[in-house]
Amino acid sequence: MGPEDRQLHVFLFPFMAHGHMIPFMDMARQFALRGVKVTIVTTPLNAILLSKTVDRDRELGIEIDIHSIPFPTKEAGLPEGCENVNSITTPELSSNFFKALNMLQQPFQKLLEEHHPDCIVADMFFPWTTDFAGKLGIPRLVFHGSCFFSSCVPDSISRYAPHNNVSSETETFVVPGLPDPIEMTKSQLPDHMKIQNDFTRAMEQIKEAEVKSYGVVMNSFYELEPAYAEHYRKVMGRRAWHIGPLSLYNREKIGKAAQSRRGNTASIDENECLTWLDSKEPDSVLYVCFGSGPSFSTDQLVEIAMGLEASGHAFIWVVRKDETSAGSVAEVEPWLPQGFEDRVGSKGLIIRGWAPQVLILQHHAIGGFVTHCGWNSLLESVCVGVPLITWPVTAEQFYNEKLVTQVLRIGVPVGVQHWNSWLGKREHLVKREEIKKAVTRLMDGGDEAAQMKGRVKELKEMAKRAIDQNGSSDTDFTSLINELKLHRDMGDKFDL
Ligand code: UDP
Repeated sequence: MGPEDRQLHVFLFPFMAHGHMIPFMDMARQFALRGVKVTIVTTPLNAILLSKTVDRDRELGIEIDIHSIPFPTKEAGLPEGCENVNSITTPELSSNFFKALNMLQQPFQKLLEEHHPDCIVADMFFPWTTDFAGKLGIPRLVFHGSCFFSSCVPDSISRYAPHNNVSSETETFVVPGLPDPIEMTKSQLPDHMKIQNDFTRAMEQIKEAEVKSYGVVMNSFYELEPAYAEHYRKVMGRRAWHIGPLSLYNREKIGKAAQSRRGNTASIDENECLTWLDSKEPDSVLYVCFGSGPSFSTDQLVEIAMGLEASGHAFIWVVRKDETSAGSVAEVEPWLPQGFEDRVGSKGLIIRGWAPQVLILQHHAIGGFVTHCGWNSLLESVCVGVPLITWPVTAEQFYNEKLVTQVLRIGVPVGVQHWNSWLGKREHLVKREEIKKAVTRLMDGGDEAAQMKGRVKELKEMAKRAIDQNGSSDTDFTSLINELKLHRDMGDKFDL
């Protein structure tokens, strides 16, 4: 066997949050199916979470290894068992969590020296992996968990500072230097873009590490955002491979039951959910889910309930469980208006906890998705041709919203004006009337809604073609693997 026949070995190092671990797991499966040896590096409790998926994949002939490194919970001042961002509830714990992430440097470096993989795909939140990998001559690839567009917009905002030329937080400005005239307000920008805070420095480190890295893998497909895929490479000068939508590959092979447990154990029996959907007309149900992050305030949840009821449309609404004490669900749910469930009857299904989202979205009864604009959720909706109501909350979600409403034109904004920090107090309520208005605009028919539906269905077909053999993402994935093999076999002699 020549060196070129040796199996390529890739380390995947996901950030510990559902919205990052889910696409990493999809990526791991794809590498493995392409003959690459894959090791996921994570912490003990996250390893347990992933091991169910890994065991099931093994039965299907997909080999993925997990390697655990200890998480310094105690040393960083975190409560026992707190190894995932989704279990963080206060800003103080969040800061300790990032402290703990930095303490992973030493064990990770040791692991690299012992195993010397041929490549590392590490989450953007581990910028230090670029230098560690570089010292050992190992290419480090960055994974953001988002898209080209949402990297291009903040890059242009940092370069041109258009938000400094407006007179108020809510005055609209156009982001210069982009392929489209993207409109935003200052109030929709993350705090760290407007003031210098800890996160500003962290984002600078992330950017520096990205520029120095071997390149970036994007969970996106070229046809979805061609102008931004080009801008990212040619104007921003990054090397990038588009390999998505990762959730779409091998759906058949993985099977329904596995999809229903994607990321977490669903809080509803998958068959109960599908039977409920079977009883509904095609395109008639709204799916409402805000990702894996913190829930809204009671006041906001009441507005959502009343807005949904007033719209008159059938809905599935996913609400995080209200846990008053460890493990027990509160008997009184103050966010549920009195008599709400009786009044909506069979028109509404509330899932308290974790929904089997991709299974729900695939059902023909789903006609719209109210989303916080997390990138995985947006892509999952595009993959099944479901138009959106955009309700961004935090992180890069406002940029994602602009892609949906201003570039792709496959969704209606609910009208959120204010960016929030991950755990910060969300002071600005979206009122029931605004919710009803957006739902009516998307679900009550009419030309605008029909056009959005038509466009998202076209994108669905493009997404399928992208991952088919010789499609744009399939080709980029193959060329990435071939290039990594060349790099391994030729080392420094390999010229980019
Ligand atoms: N998800 C799910 N059930 C839920 C909530 C979320 O399956 O009840 C999945 C969803 O399908 C997506 C991921 O969790 O794959 C959430 O990622 P996204 O980027 O949309 O948002 P985040 O949680 O990172 O803010």
